[in-house]
Amino acid sequence: MLEIASAEGVYIYTRDGKRYTDLISGISVSATGHRHPDVLRAIHEQLDHYLHVMVYGEFVQGPQVELARKLCSLLPPSLDSVYFVSTGAEATEGALKLAKRATGRTQIVGFENAYHGSTHGALSVIGDEYFRRNYRPLLPGVSHLRFNEPEDLQYITTETACVIAETIQGEAGIVVPDPNWLKLLRRRCDETGALLILDEIQTGMGRCGSFMAFEQFGVLPDILLLAKGLGGGLPLGAFISSNQLMKNLSHDPVLGHITTYGGNALCCAAGLAVTHLIASEQLDKRALVLEQIIRTKLKHPAILEIRGRGLLLAAVFENQQIAAAVMEKCMQNGLITDWFLFAPHCLRIAPPLTITDRELTEALEIFLSACQH
Ligand code: PLP
Repeated sequence: MLEIASAEGVYIYTRDGKRYTDLISGISVSATGHRHPDVLRAIHEQLDHYLHVMVYGEFVQGPQVELARKLCSLLPPSLDSVYFVSTGAEATEGALKLAKRATGRTQIVGFENAYHGSTHGALSVIGDEYFRRNYRPLLPGVSHLRFNEPEDLQYITTETACVIAETIQGEAGIVVPDPNWLKLLRRRCDETGALLILDEIQTGMGRCGSFMAFEQFGVLPDILLLAKGLGGGLPLGAFISSNQLMKNLSHDPVLGHITTYGGNALCCAAGLAVTHLIASEQLDKRALVLEQIIRTKLKHPAILEIRGRGLLLAAVFENQQIAAAVMEKCMQNGLITDWFLFAPHCLRIAPPLTITDRELTEALEIFLSACQH
């Protein structure tokens, strides 16, 4: 267990004086690295003005408005209403509620091996029985289909309020769907009137090579989920839809989703700095360049495959024991990697998007030497 002293850029320093390269960004959080000067500046400026003043939505708070505007300027026009929350799971909860409210339906469809958070609603839609089984009863009316399986889409019906999917599955060990399947999913939702919720909590904010991963698949969600990378290391999430759809949360009851800390001014100030950096430095494009470096250099007989897009990658090993041994060796040699919740035979390669070629090359050398045993 590491006892952390400080973190800077792609490095984490422990209290016993060791330096580690962060190859996982705190699970896809630190998109612009640790303590990026622009993010720190934004936080300090906001600190000098105010922190919490009122529960979300009651007062106009500049950082929330500015961040919502910035996000909408980078997203397709139909995603023009942002509801800030504090975590990914809360974004999932808000989206599920919005879908039920907007459609008047109660059935929800999720996918096997999906991860959307750990609160009761989110837990109901995740696709892994081991994590769900001891917390029943969960939400009624939830079914799970096979991801990337066209045949199963027939089970989305006119009773379905929404379908929730990760654009690229993260905790399944980075599973990229066939673009045609995502298009079929979109079409089936249109046919049945089910809303499509795309969870881009890991895949968004430039990590997969475009601002949102869905841009690469030619599909558009009705509701988009963001968190993790959005807050630049502070707790921030959002569910985003059209204004017309979002209005459903404004009446009957008057406050359809209530959150004290959602859109916290400090978190939004940090989020705005992160979003600016991703856009102005084209960190999404950079992720694709770095992906190629990884695919070229990370070749070893023990690595069966590198799966994923941009800087959301998984190195696939034959079994969990091998992956665990490689992870252990990486840690001994100053490199932080990790397994996936539903794929312990895979190791995570998801460094900050700001990692330099040299830093990445050094990290890959450690990774490769850890594969040698
Ligand atoms: N959705 C996805 C795809 C995630 O990977 C996660 C967290 O790992 C969540 C939702 C939940 O986010 P949080 O832990 O902030 O609740």
